[in-house]
Amino acid sequence: MVLSKYVWKNGKIIDGRNAKTNIFCQGLHYGMGVFEGIRFYDTEERGPAIFRLDKHLERFDYSQRKAYMILRYSPEVLTDAIKELIKKSGLREGYIRPIAWYGEERLGLRLGEKTDVAIAVFSWNKRLEHEQIRAKISKYLRIDPRSTHVEAKISGHYVNSILALRDALDSGFDEAILLDWMGMVAEGSAENIFMVTNGNIYTPSKGSILDGVTRQTILVLARDYGYRVEETLITPEALFKSDEVFLCGTAMEVLLVVEIQRESMGQITPWTSKSDKVTTQFANLYAEVVRGKHPEYSRWLTYVYE
Ligand code: PMP
Repeated sequence: MVLSKYVWKNGKIIDGRNAKTNIFCQGLHYGMGVFEGIRFYDTEERGPAIFRLDKHLERFDYSQRKAYMILRYSPEVLTDAIKELIKKSGLREGYIRPIAWYGEERLGLRLGEKTDVAIAVFSWNKRLEHEQIRAKISKYLRIDPRSTHVEAKISGHYVNSILALRDALDSGFDEAILLDWMGMVAEGSAENIFMVTNGNIYTPSKGSILDGVTRQTILVLARDYGYRVEETLITPEALFKSDEVFLCGTAMEVLLVVEIQRESMGQITPWTSKSDKVTTQFANLYAEVVRGKHPEYSRWLTYVYE
């Protein structure tokens, strides 16, 4: 079994079984890679469409620049590559993983010049089978914006997310919520967070978070649907006074959080959701928008066969 039957690597489509890398490369040893996670969905009339591809490729460029990479392929070339791979995969819905990394045989911290770029396409269902999740406020803080470029999707950053998620799973939760260096709510391990209080919608402002494409999408939808929306600093106390919390990201889409626990100085503070109304509305709306059921948002779709 191979994750992606075909892989695009440095301009060529190859058998997924032959998609390999040098083991003495800076990508592997120091986490010097950058990647994206993109989804495509089946639409009723025009076949599979990639959701917000331009935004993802823009962030892929941004991440590469922050990792001092020389951009080898333009968004146009990557778009053609992705479309070609989806066609070859025969999938109608699935996940796209572009990655660029320092793949040359080279150790030490002085970066090489050359990067490798690869793209895989495969089917990936949502991580959690049940859509209501229990989260733990993590003891691990989200990486500090003074230490790295937190808005770049750099492979090495994910050590932070993996530790937080693993700790939450080991304590019997489904997900971690990370606080930032100020003790403010930042995000989930690979999702942004929203809360609903008195019918208004709040999400942490940029600064310590990865500014997710799904987050940006929800912000537009929420404003279009008449909500008062604020990007702001959110204290854990404010989160614990909210009526509703949801997480969102490309892989997970929109997920209701029903329970949160925080352990601080030996004391456990629990929170349970009072409602699921706004989350359900956005989960359903999002599922329709990505499948082309709302022509007013068709600008977000790139049709594979057109
Ligand atoms: N935060 C982190 C740390 C992530 O890894 C992701 C997934 N890319 C997100 C938020 C959500 O981003 P997006 O909506 O672009 O998938």
